[in-house]
Amino acid sequence: MLDLEIERTFDRYRDLLEDLSFPAVRRWKEANPGRKAVGFFPVYAPVEILHAAGMLPVGLAGAGDRLDIQHADARFGSFICSIIKTTLEMGMTGHLEPFEGLLFSSICDSARNLAFVMKRNFPQKYIDFLHLPHNPSSPASVEFLAAEYRRLIGELTTIGGDFNDDKLRASIALFNRQRELVRRLYALRAASPHLLRAWECYVVVRAGNVMPVEEHIALLEQVAASAPRRGAKKRDSLRVVVEGAFCEQPPLEVIRLIEEAGCDIVEDDFALAPRWFTEDVPSAGDPVLALAEAYVNRSVYSSVRHDFRKPRWLGLAEKTKVSRADAVIFLMAKFCEPAYFDYVPFKQQVELMGLPHLALEYEEKLFTFERLRTEVETFVESLVFD
Ligand code: SF4
Repeated sequence: MLDLEIERTFDRYRDLLEDLSFPAVRRWKEANPGRKAVGFFPVYAPVEILHAAGMLPVGLAGAGDRLDIQHADARFGSFICSIIKTTLEMGMTGHLEPFEGLLFSSICDSARNLAFVMKRNFPQKYIDFLHLPHNPSSPASVEFLAAEYRRLIGELTTIGGDFNDDKLRASIALFNRQRELVRRLYALRAASPHLLRAWECYVVVRAGNVMPVEEHIALLEQVAASAPRRGAKKRDSLRVVVEGAFCEQPPLEVIRLIEEAGCDIVEDDFALAPRWFTEDVPSAGDPVLALAEAYVNRSVYSSVRHDFRKPRWLGLAEKTKVSRADAVIFLMAKFCEPAYFDYVPFKQQVELMGLPHLALEYEEKLFTFERLRTEVETFVESLVFD
């Protein structure tokens, strides 16, 4: 009964993620007339600030295979990742209508261009571009980002946001609780992957992008309480870290086929936003400064966040050690420059550590998975029967 219930929960949230009409956002808006929803493009956004301003932060993740590209191709060239085109297509076909605002940040050239294409095409919406610091080793970075956040707060106030520091402290505490629960699910998955499959963990964590944080916390608590009591059997699988899928998300089928081919995904960088901070953001003192300080000093490594104090490949090395990984699968979105650039130093690092690795490429609109399945199966067999 418990197993059936929890499986239904995963199916329900998988369906929610595939629904391009944002039902949970619409429900929230009906229950909170006059309040605004702001969509943010991956990988990171200061959701606490949007929440504290009385708005609903919603993580955008493209349209997967559920929208034909008819307008976006005319505005972007061919060698651009899918999420850029499907997000624009969503705008051009009315799918972003529930959002009064859209927030982008300096993760890559494509995202930067999308922000300004959106601005030109949707002048009635509030569209902003956050400059996140690219040199965290500079003593000016924290103050620079705090100033950028204060500018954002000013903009949100002009479109109806109602903000003060106490509200921000309360929002930080709420999102800390969400992140703590996400960390707990990831720890359970790494220790007992048979109790929480990677695709199950993925849908539950990513659901937090498209629903109010208060409801997401309740969902995470429910899964954290019930997953350890499942009757699932242990499998003899390869423990793998998946790296490279931090922005555009792979089709769910790809995550499932990696598992079905004989891997336990014990760590990943899917849908990074709710895992962005490595520890709680302090909620005392100046909360804007605390949030900026956390971005600079307490966040995960990422191909879209440059930190000369600790190279990203050392972050990957640590991840593989902590998760006791047997291998690394590089899972990269087609035409994602930050993922391609990092593939070389990441690959050198895992080779230095003697870890086997496999590189796979995906795009949102993948309809046949057999080639990928064969590649993963061959990789697993080559290691198991070595
Ligand atoms: S998938 Fe890569 S290239 Fe595309 S928007 Fe995201 S970070 Fe940029």
